[in-house]
Amino acid sequence: MARFEGKTVIVTGGSRGIGEGIVRRFAAEGATVFGTYNSGADRADSIAGELNAVGMKVRFIQTDVASEQSVKELVDAAVKETGRVDVLVNNAGITKDGLVMRMSEKDWDDTLNTNLKGAFLCAKAVCRLMMSQRSGRIVNIASVVGITGNAGQANYAASKAGLIGLTKSLAKEFASRNILVNCIAPGYVETDMTQKLSDEQRAGFLNVIPLKRAGTVDEIAAAVAFFASDDSAYITGQVLCADGGMVM
Ligand code: NDP
Repeated sequence: MARFEGKTVIVTGGSRGIGEGIVRRFAAEGATVFGTYNSGADRADSIAGELNAVGMKVRFIQTDVASEQSVKELVDAAVKETGRVDVLVNNAGITKDGLVMRMSEKDWDDTLNTNLKGAFLCAKAVCRLMMSQRSGRIVNIASVVGITGNAGQANYAASKAGLIGLTKSLAKEFASRNILVNCIAPGYVETDMTQKLSDEQRAGFLNVIPLKRAGTVDEIAAAVAFFASDDSAYITGQVLCADGGMVM
């Protein structure tokens, strides 16, 4: 039997990049997947159309993770259709890079609101239900820069470091109800987000990755699936770097 048959999985930011890879992975393993998009309705429609046509169960819902009302509507839709939420993947994220001396308050707030507050709102929206189920998995997508810091990414690195603190706190709060909370810290993965990097920045990353290549969205999705599966039943509050050895 497929590993996630009968499970309901929510993946925020599932319409592109790493999130799309995560949606595809869970759908292929039998889950009913609720992906979110924020602005990219066409892309979300085409992924859902493709996967539903081959019998997978995928639905996309427009969601702004920084809005409590929008997150509530997402979770309500999943619960109305399936009656449960087994796995939440907080993947939605943005970058608004710049040196601190030139960074606007808005760029700081937008980044923290999407990357950190979004994860808090989504976790809050599912936790009561997961507690009553006496089971649940939350997987947060942080970043290696949340561990190392990065010049030009103070807002983004702070949001990802915050996500690591949030992961550990939720792991402690929810453990008694068998809700496990873990974090993946990807290194450098080729997606729209990293298309913005200059050739020089890209070369700089590859230079410090022992495996000497970028990660793929499928490799990140595999790590997420591990944290959502029975294979990780005794692991909570951890940060797994999926980064080709970049940070160790
Ligand atoms: P992309 O830019 O390719 O995709 C971002 C996704 O997030 C899109 O689906 C987008 O939806 C969604 N999104 C953005 N803002 C919101 C919002 N306010 N509410 C809901 N959804 C939103 O990013 P990646 O796939 O590269 O990154 C995914 C995650 O992985 C992020 O958290 C990122 O920080 C992290 N990460 C990525 C790395 C990389 O190298 N790529 C490295 C380390 C971490 P829409 O298109 O509809 O706007």
